[in-house]
Amino acid sequence: EQAQTENGNLQKENNNLKTEIEKLNAQKLIEAEKLTALQNSPQSVYPPADKVCYLTFDDGPSDNTLKILDILDSFNAKATFFVIGSSGKLDYVKQIHERGHVVGLHSDSHKYNVIYSSTDAYFADLEAISNKVEQIIGIKSKIMRFPGGGSNGVSKKYCVGIMSRLTNQVKAKGYAYFDWNVSSGDADGNNVPATQIVNNVLNQSVNKNSICVLMHDSAAKGTTVEALPAMLDGLAKMGFRFEGLTESTYGYCHAVNN
Ligand code: ZN
Repeated sequence: EQAQTENGNLQKENNNLKTEIEKLNAQKLIEAEKLTALQNSPQSVYPPADKVCYLTFDDGPSDNTLKILDILDSFNAKATFFVIGSSGKLDYVKQIHERGHVVGLHSDSHKYNVIYSSTDAYFADLEAISNKVEQIIGIKSKIMRFPGGGSNGVSKKYCVGIMSRLTNQVKAKGYAYFDWNVSSGDADGNNVPATQIVNNVLNQSVNKNSICVLMHDSAAKGTTVEALPAMLDGLAKMGFRFEGLTESTYGYCHAVNN
């Protein structure tokens, strides 16, 4: 009986060790991918030292895109649009590009349960939007943003650890991915008052040297458009100039949560 108990305990210990080894191997894989990412990525590891503002618009193009472009023109401002295939308005990508802004990749389907089900599924989706954008503007965009950002925890529901791998793998494949350090809060609900969006952005931009501002370009975000003139005016008065992201721009990357 004693031998049986001892055997049971040893088996338990053996299983624990096996789990531990699996964990260490997974960690080793992530470390190896991180190293490849660092070696391949042209992205700066330091934020710019001067007052630059990167305005970013996710989830478009939309019926608001042309209004946004006109406002940006009136401030002589350049911005970055992280576009999605499912917006159904990819035709506007041509204008975004021709008017001097940066077209970034966000997602083709923007369906979390699909894109975050596996790394293969993620890259199939990224490739799809990449090809669509390339067909329109004639160049491959290497600038991207993860749906939900690199720090999203939603992906945990579909694949544990996927963001730890994807954040390195995209860099290893030559992409530059971007999160943000100022959130407009325009996704906190529909029709967030324009004044609140302006205040959110200006308040978070105080005492920051360079900023990457998260906004959304979708039909439901009319107040984002309304907020833009006062926001850009306020930011310009704080000394910011407005530029599009490049492959070597610092990523404003959040800590990964999955
Ligand atoms: Zn999005």
